[in-house]
Amino acid sequence: MEFYPHRPAVLERLEQIHRSGRLGQPVLLTGPDGSGKEATALEFARRLACVSPGACTPGAPCESCAKALTFQHPDILWIGPAPAGFDEDDARALFAAKQEDPFFRPPFASTAFVAIGDSEHPGPMTVRHLIRFLQQHPFQAERRIAVVADSRRLNQAAANAFLKTLEEPPGGAVIILLATGTEGMLPTILSRCQEVRVNPWPDGELADLLCELHGVDRETALAAANVAAGDARRAASLLQDITPVVRKTALAWLDWIRLGNRGYAAILADEMHRGVPPHILDADEAAVWKGHGKKGASRKGHRSGSADGVAPGAAAIRRDLAIRLCEWLVLLYSEAMKCRELGDAWRPRVPEAADLIRGFASGRATNTLLGDLERIEACRGDIDRNLNIGLLLAVLSEELIDHAETDRTRLQGT
Ligand SMILES: [Zn+2]
Repeated sequence: MEFYPHRPAVLERLEQIHRSGRLGQPVLLTGPDGSGKEATALEFARRLACVSPGACTPGAPCESCAKALTFQHPDILWIGPAPAGFDEDDARALFAAKQEDPFFRPPFASTAFVAIGDSEHPGPMTVRHLIRFLQQHPFQAERRIAVVADSRRLNQAAANAFLKTLEEPPGGAVIILLATGTEGMLPTILSRCQEVRVNPWPDGELADLLCELHGVDRETALAAANVAAGDARRAASLLQDITPVVRKTALAWLDWIRLGNRGYAAILADEMHRGVPPHILDADEAAVWKGHGKKGASRKGHRSGSADGVAPGAAAIRRDLAIRLCEWLVLLYSEAMKCRELGDAWRPRVPEAADLIRGFASGRATNTLLGDLERIEACRGDIDRNLNIGLLLAVLSEELIDHAETDRTRLQGT
């Protein structure tokens, strides 16, 4: 068992930077979603602050590590995107959720920004709060340590306010920024950081983690790791009860696209919009669909259900389901492309759907499929940004069916 589900090779890189005395320069960890950037940064922070490195274990942590693990260490600060008005209670709820699930991602993660904060009373997730924190002397550890999640979502004012601190972190403070990539980041921020890249998890390593965290057998874990392509958050979500139900819906959707069944596709868009279980599910599956997300909502304090809080409200649950559905469709389309390109050498990532995908891929052109994949990804992003689910899915289905028909007509014409 580990303190945090971190990436050993990346941690070793950070230790190297530490040993060579270069920690005074902020570190930027870049890697795709679910690659373990945050857990590795938090593990590194915990180790830096640990008061008895030889004796400290996850089962019997020292006082410093116990505080670090509960986000209560006075010298370790984590900030990330948060909606306006996010307060100390919200922060406590968020940290409780992150403790329970190391891959927890709040419903506002893709819409909120890291703000500069009020000059008198900056909120707990703001850059002004971070700067004040770093300017104070450490209480317990040798230095103060700050982790900034999703640093591409620093808004302009926050980024500018942060520059001087990044140039010269006060009192040997350690600053670790996390980002999925460097596009869109201010060059003035990038030039002040040393970048360390984090690759997606190797399947075997991710399967080990899933076995440990979720108590599943290795075969199940490997299958989830394989479908998730190295994204630990996605792999963990694949182990949830909702996955077979979303997969069944996505497979039906793919078949309607193949058959040109516009009516069923339109009904599905409407059902996803209204948050009712898709009509193709049986009673048990519909119950799983209706129960999705409800469990998490009960554990988190006074704001549960509010759009600003940490617990997902009904709208966030609808959005989560629509995003999952799009992610499955992305997977099925990329499988269809692989099936076309590789022929007999194709190793299906979703073996039970291999025949359906083969049928779908025949009579399709690779470049149309590629364009469709980009469209589905864009639709997923728009849903994540809170646009109208029903409209997005209805338009997407129409386009995908149009393209399938165009491919077929072209094929018959030759
Ligand atoms: Zn310790």
